[in-house]
Amino acid sequence: MEKNLYDLSVNDVSKLFYDNVGAIIVVDSTIDTYKAIVRHGIFESYLKESGSYHDLILDLWFHFDDSNEKVSGDYQIFADNTGVFKSKFSRRLKIVLEGETEPHLVQLTVYPFEQEKKYIFVLDEFDDNESLQESLTTKKINTIQSSYLFSMYIDLAADTTSSINVAEISDDVVNYNLKYSEWRMMIVNMFLPEDQEQFLRRTDPEYLKKNFTPGRTSSYDCMMRNLEGKFIWVKLIFSRAKTINEDDYRFVFLVQDNNETTMEVLSTLQQYEEKAIRDPLTNVYNHGEIETQLNNALAYFQKTSEPVSVMMIDLDHFKAVNDNYGHSTGDTTLKQFAKILKDFSAENKLIAGRWGGEEFVVICLDKNIEAAGKLAEELRMKVDAYEFPEIFHITCSVGVTELKNGDDFASSFDRIDKAVYASKQAGRNKVTVL
Ligand code: GH3
Ligand code: MG
Ligand code: MG
Repeated sequence: MEKNLYDLSVNDVSKLFYDNVGAIIVVDSTIDTYKAIVRHGIFESYLKESGSYHDLILDLWFHFDDSNEKVSGDYQIFADNTGVFKSKFSRRLKIVLEGETEPHLVQLTVYPFEQEKKYIFVLDEFDDNESLQESLTTKKINTIQSSYLFSMYIDLAADTTSSINVAEISDDVVNYNLKYSEWRMMIVNMFLPEDQEQFLRRTDPEYLKKNFTPGRTSSYDCMMRNLEGKFIWVKLIFSRAKTINEDDYRFVFLVQDNNETTMEVLSTLQQYEEKAIRDPLTNVYNHGEIETQLNNALAYFQKTSEPVSVMMIDLDHFKAVNDNYGHSTGDTTLKQFAKILKDFSAENKLIAGRWGGEEFVVICLDKNIEAAGKLAEELRMKVDAYEFPEIFHITCSVGVTELKNGDDFASSFDRIDKAVYASKQAGRNKVTVL
């Protein structure tokens, strides 16, 4: 710049500003229109010369995600209140360009015109990566600290909502003139489809009036799409204001991010469920579970008429293993046999369980008697050929049957028992098909 300090005019400064700032946009929200006066750098492609203000807000605000996936559809209803400014406003935005994965960090400053609902937006990209990293970290910290994703006041008597605060969108309290009855119909799409009916039932004004005495708080968990487009576990909390006026139906509604806690609980639950259905020694299904699976297989056969076969395997002279090598070697042998059975079942998509002692049951869905007989023979040979620790050699006797029309649990099991007995009678280390 040639001029000295005292000669610099507003025009000089404007020119500098014009040449250097990322984008200058003028907005008239009354006609839902924006016009970009200046577009430099990333904004040349990111912004159109003009367009809908509503779309612009959705584009700018709902890019918190570090990926290109947009969630603006779900969060539409917040677009209006994030696009209303009474005074100067400034915030950082992350913008992801089409085809890129790394977000650009942008400072947005809004200057309202004196005339209501007309604004100037100034957008400028930070050009160092450090501030981007800093902002990502800050956001993470904020997310952890503000586990309340969302809060609002509801007045059922007046059918109004107010002071919506969406932690992920804005830390500021925003006033929102939306009828409660409309709001719940708009927000319902953010929930997992299976959870939507429950949400509507529990947010129904009549339900709330009937079930909440003054001061009562109640909550429930469900899954909701977050700003990154993923479904997360949230706790929805409703609390009715303490009041002595029976017609006063003011509520506070909170959405709490409950994802981590719920995932931990679910994982513990799953571990318990697993334990309840597994045989502790061999880790195949236990007696109760294989019985359930057999009943399910029967129902499957009756419903679909697809073939279902069942085999029972009894280890030969197992008592002698205990007698000759001790009970602990017997256990090791059972475990080793179960390992062979498990691998074999996984390979052939069979369901295996321990019936008790040294007897195992295998359910073969979609396998007729020929196929199941072949598999049984394969398994018998595998065991026969296997070198077990310490005892080296053990064999098994197998009975196989296919479910027939009119079968129930007892009749099918009767045939399997007979088949195993026949294998034993024939000298053991045999497969009998009945
Ligand atoms: P068969 O060829 O006629 O089947 O002879 P077997 O000895 O295998 O049959 P029997 O039913 O007489 O004996 C089964 C033995 O299995 C008796 C029992 O001590 C042993 N057994 C059952 N459950 C376990 C277990 O969990 N661990 C150990 N080590 N042995 C077990
Ligand atoms: Mg036995
Ligand atoms: Mg036996």
